[in-house]
Amino acid sequence: MVLLRFAPSPTGPLHLGGLRMALYNYLYARKFGGKWILRIEDTDTTRSVPGSVEGIRKALSWAGLDYDYGPEKEGPHGPYFQSERRDLYRLYANKLIDKGQAYRCFCSADELADVKTRLARSGSNNTYDKRCLHLSDEEVARKVKAGEKFVVRINDGIIPTRPPTHDIVYGYVRDAHLSLATDPVLLKSDLFPTYHLASVVDDHEMGITHVLRGEEWLPSLPLHLDLYTHLNLTPPQFAHIPILLNPDRTKMSKRSGDVQVVDYMHRGWEPQAILNWLALAGWGAKHEATAPITDGSDTDSSSSSRPSSPHRLEDAPDSTHLMTIDEMISDFDLSALTHRSSVLDGTKLEYINKHHLMRTWSTPEGLDKLANRVHGHLKDAFKSSPYTTVDNIKNAITLLEGRLTNIYDIPLHAPYLFVDPDWATAEAQNMIRKVSADQRIQILDVFITLIQTNGWFTFQAASHESIMESLHHEREKLDVHLKVFMSVLRHALTGMKDGPGIIDIVRALGHERTIARLNAAKD
Ligand code: GLU
Repeated sequence: MVLLRFAPSPTGPLHLGGLRMALYNYLYARKFGGKWILRIEDTDTTRSVPGSVEGIRKALSWAGLDYDYGPEKEGPHGPYFQSERRDLYRLYANKLIDKGQAYRCFCSADELADVKTRLARSGSNNTYDKRCLHLSDEEVARKVKAGEKFVVRINDGIIPTRPPTHDIVYGYVRDAHLSLATDPVLLKSDLFPTYHLASVVDDHEMGITHVLRGEEWLPSLPLHLDLYTHLNLTPPQFAHIPILLNPDRTKMSKRSGDVQVVDYMHRGWEPQAILNWLALAGWGAKHEATAPITDGSDTDSSSSSRPSSPHRLEDAPDSTHLMTIDEMISDFDLSALTHRSSVLDGTKLEYINKHHLMRTWSTPEGLDKLANRVHGHLKDAFKSSPYTTVDNIKNAITLLEGRLTNIYDIPLHAPYLFVDPDWATAEAQNMIRKVSADQRIQILDVFITLIQTNGWFTFQAASHESIMESLHHEREKLDVHLKVFMSVLRHALTGMKDGPGIIDIVRALGHERTIARLNAAKD
């Protein structure tokens, strides 16, 4: 069974890149009937931000990405906070020390800085001269006993021939960890592990089969594989996912607009649309994956770059391809992920969101769900209105079908369903500029009479065509242009130039409000 994990550090709100990572983990787990874990990597106490875990959980739950194990969902691999697993990391660090694959380093920060400068001056790429590796056992024991602070470093570079490093997305990667420090620290002086040790230990202890994580960890992969080798453990499969970029190809950051999931939650975007949008950012192709990827043997080991897939370009879903979560699950394919950085384009989200909205409100349950979701927002937007009921909201959604990009745009498109129109705006004034006050009253009276003489019930039941026919008949008698005639009615009912058909608006407003509004507009 495949077992994956999403392992955020609790350093603030979940951002879009994190949500995409969670999504990919979720999709892969669900596709192959496996499970996924939410693991909180809170070992860097200086960077932890209170409330982050709650925020991450809320964002995942909003998106419908239900993890199988993690905080508040205990399971066989817990605890799921790394800060609660420190004994385990110490145990593994000691194992490595015992085998000579790691060592205690007592160098102070000043000493380390000196060594680093000296090495750099001598033209060396190393950042440390491994001096503590050569301390005698007695000396180490004495220092430990004296309470001297130490870190544990890996004794790197002792594996003579390292097997080629394979990544599902990037293919075979050349030795990338030369960019890392010399003998990276595994255990810090506060006895908290670094990411390197904690992730290897936990991925093994938890039985993770596939690690999907950000590309920033790709250079660390050879080091992690060394740790697996030292500890005689079988590594999981790795897939590093490229970062998300803004449309101008700059890195997404807080300064570049909305990057936090909570921004999207508060702005009414459809969770499925956000997932669809994120899924497509980096999803290079769509072809059948019928079994989980088990090792690198399906790729050409002589190549140092990613192997080419015949499906990649030809079958690539376009970047506005609409998918439900079930479709995403069935189409998801790790080997089709692109290793190019992916651009996240807000205009595509609008398209995707609009179509997800249309799908949702096409069923009674979907319509209910939407109306309930937007209820609070409309109550806030029209505080004194008695018309922000769920039933009215359902009418509003149905009325605006196909016009809404985002469900929170209802107040923008049809404020007149909740409050009286503002007839004083320039837009409203412009609509009746070509008609005299007398004529306007005549037109409004025509409509009032039409509704009153037939009765609301008949009006409701009549077809659009027959109502329009009666209106035309009356309009001809008044001798006004159709455009003017309709504009006067629209002005009275909505105060807005554009919108749905007049008859639909009237039906959404109901009898009393329509008549009251038509009368009020005469002033
Ligand atoms: N805690 C790491 C991060 O937030 C997770 C990396 C991983 O998934 O292994 O970047």
